[in-house]
Amino acid sequence: MITFEEAYKIVTEAVFHTGREQVKISEALGRALAAPVRSDMDMPPWDKSAVDGYACRHEDLGSELTVIETIAAGVFPEKEVTQGTCSRIMTGAAVPDGADYVFMIEETEEKERGRVRFTGKPGNTNIAKAAEDLYSGQTVLKSGQYIRPQDIAVMAVVGATEVTVSCRPKVGVISTGNELVEPDVKPVKAQIRNSNAYQLMSQIDRAGSTGTYYGIARDDEDSIATLMKKALKENDVVLVSGGVSFGDYDLVQKAMRSLDMKVHFDQVAMQPGKPLTFCTAERKAVFGLPGNPVSTFVQFEIMVRPFLDRMAGVTVEEIDLTLPLATDYSRKRAERMAWIPFTLTPKGEALPVDYHGSAHINALPGAWGLIAIPRGQSWIQKGEMVNVRQI
Ligand code: AMP
Ligand code: MG
Repeated sequence: MITFEEAYKIVTEAVFHTGREQVKISEALGRALAAPVRSDMDMPPWDKSAVDGYACRHEDLGSELTVIETIAAGVFPEKEVTQGTCSRIMTGAAVPDGADYVFMIEETEEKERGRVRFTGKPGNTNIAKAAEDLYSGQTVLKSGQYIRPQDIAVMAVVGATEVTVSCRPKVGVISTGNELVEPDVKPVKAQIRNSNAYQLMSQIDRAGSTGTYYGIARDDEDSIATLMKKALKENDVVLVSGGVSFGDYDLVQKAMRSLDMKVHFDQVAMQPGKPLTFCTAERKAVFGLPGNPVSTFVQFEIMVRPFLDRMAGVTVEEIDLTLPLATDYSRKRAERMAWIPFTLTPKGEALPVDYHGSAHINALPGAWGLIAIPRGQSWIQKGEMVNVRQI
């Protein structure tokens, strides 16, 4: 049995990369940016007014001024501001030559038509300098990140209407278990519903990959190997849930070996998810995920997702987020690292939720994240900082 850290290293080092493609920015959300985006212009393109007001010379702030022009957004100024004059200007419009200050409408007194005076205290010029936000040729977005709405705004600003992204990793999903029926069937006798496949498909989707579901394999080596072969042919990564423990019907490792895959490990000192199995062949990877739904969920988040991120060239490391523990925590055995679901208190502390173990699927919807409890630690005092991750 290896440690979580060892397993994580093996998994992340086994990564192979997907290809690249071009997508329109309207389809770029959630994709992994694979080439930097550069600006084709300065922003702002000119010295720009940050307020609605009057553009004038700083030294004229104490004087009554004659308004010589009105500059709306989208109109370029035609007149130069000189001593004793100002131009009425709207937010976002170009500041006219000669002016180095814009005072706000709210701090203006209109003496007579076309004659104004500043009534406030001089301070900030209210002018955004040309190119102060970004400049032509600047790298505005680095590759190796998932694209968010705020990134899409930047792409639009610099005219990057198409961007280069990594192809989505293709992930096949197989459930195993003679006891399983699909969710639209009311289970009878020894049956239970298949929740893992649907959970995994949505985790894959959320991770920016493309999932394909291959159905339920019976607990026999042939049935598993047949589905696995098909899924491997059509995908980069295959996730098999169940059948990886050491019971009489746990045949996933056998099936993996029968397909000539290299099994890197089949037991990791963590909880939930000890029987996690990982194997590879040329540009293919299979994760054998333990069947209990909480194990499947957690192992996807902590092992499979980092693998998929790296496949797509996303290099952002998981940040080390810590929170104070809301209550004392203890466990009887500590030979494995543990991931336990918790909720956030109004004070921002991590409070473990009622959790009966890896089959307790409805413990997760109420959880904000997982606390990582290191191997060897069986007791944590209230208030101590713990490592967490959001789920
Ligand atoms: P296994 O790893 O196959 O021994 O399964 C461990 C436990 O998880 C058993 O109670 C299974 O019934 C359950 N289980 C396995 N696969 C699924 C699934 N796809 N959906 C829900 N529960 C499952
Ligand atoms: Mg099973």
